[in-house]
Amino acid sequence: MNSVLKLKPVFKEIVWGGNRLKDDYGFESDLNNIAEAWMLCARNDGDNIIVNGEFAGMSFSEFISNNKTLLGKKGQSYEEFPLLIKFIDAKADLSVQVHPDDEYARIHENSYGKTEAWYILDCDEGAELIYGFNKELTPDEFRKSIEDNTFLDYVNKVKVKKGDVFFISAGTLHAIGSGILLAEVQQNCNTTYRVYDYNRMVNGKPRELHVEKALDVTNTVPPTRNGDADGEPEVFENATHQALCSCDFFKMETIDVKGEHTILIDDESFASVLVLEGNGTLTDETQSMNVSAGDSFFIPANCGDITFNGEFKALISTL
Ligand SMILES: [Zn+2]
Repeated sequence: MNSVLKLKPVFKEIVWGGNRLKDDYGFESDLNNIAEAWMLCARNDGDNIIVNGEFAGMSFSEFISNNKTLLGKKGQSYEEFPLLIKFIDAKADLSVQVHPDDEYARIHENSYGKTEAWYILDCDEGAELIYGFNKELTPDEFRKSIEDNTFLDYVNKVKVKKGDVFFISAGTLHAIGSGILLAEVQQNCNTTYRVYDYNRMVNGKPRELHVEKALDVTNTVPPTRNGDADGEPEVFENATHQALCSCDFFKMETIDVKGEHTILIDDESFASVLVLEGNGTLTDETQSMNVSAGDSFFIPANCGDITFNGEFKALISTL
């Protein structure tokens, strides 16, 4: 029961997607323009299938609903699986958007809010994203900038590089720019208020904007960080851990493994292990598995020692 699960991703074709997810990770799909690969998901509109072990072939949501203790102490209070983790390949700019917090979402959308974080996997030279504002705006100034199309003058455009991390708490304006490949960890919710869509037409019409709700929830105070991780790396004999960000909803770190390195998964939370580069093996009490870039593993809470071996980089997310 308490064994590591390997999960099969769910692919989403969206107009702004590219082909890097197939090219870089060898994902197989008949879809074109794969914008998103959902690496950890238990939703009606996307549900991983278990690849290994005695539960092979079962959907991840079914497995979880039968085994809630495997989410750990922090996970058991959630009605739905708490996280959604994706790879995103933005060949074109995404719309500028904002998400509500839990309280606003509960009252207005009957859903959870959404805090998310991005870890930049790769990007084209000069690639940029939008992260908050570059000056604090009043609600009237915010509204006017959309009406008179000066909005982009006030957003904080950040040139990105591989390894940058952006923590996007609910209420933070954000947009992924073209030429960026990233991993996203988020609360399991899709309530999005679109603020600006570059005056683009989709099927001859502009996409709907949600300006009034965005005005309600957006924090216009400029962010103080622009891509830096949480503190210094922690160096072990055969691995380096780098904390990326930490909030009430999730924690993220990267691990660079060179050789054999063991981590402990206790009863607080499950862990998601998303392999970003390289290859090696992952061993728990019951099995040993090969790992390579693009693999996604669910490690149940209280799984104990997990031993990595090889030369690879992984993103580890917990509650
Ligand atoms: Zn978002």
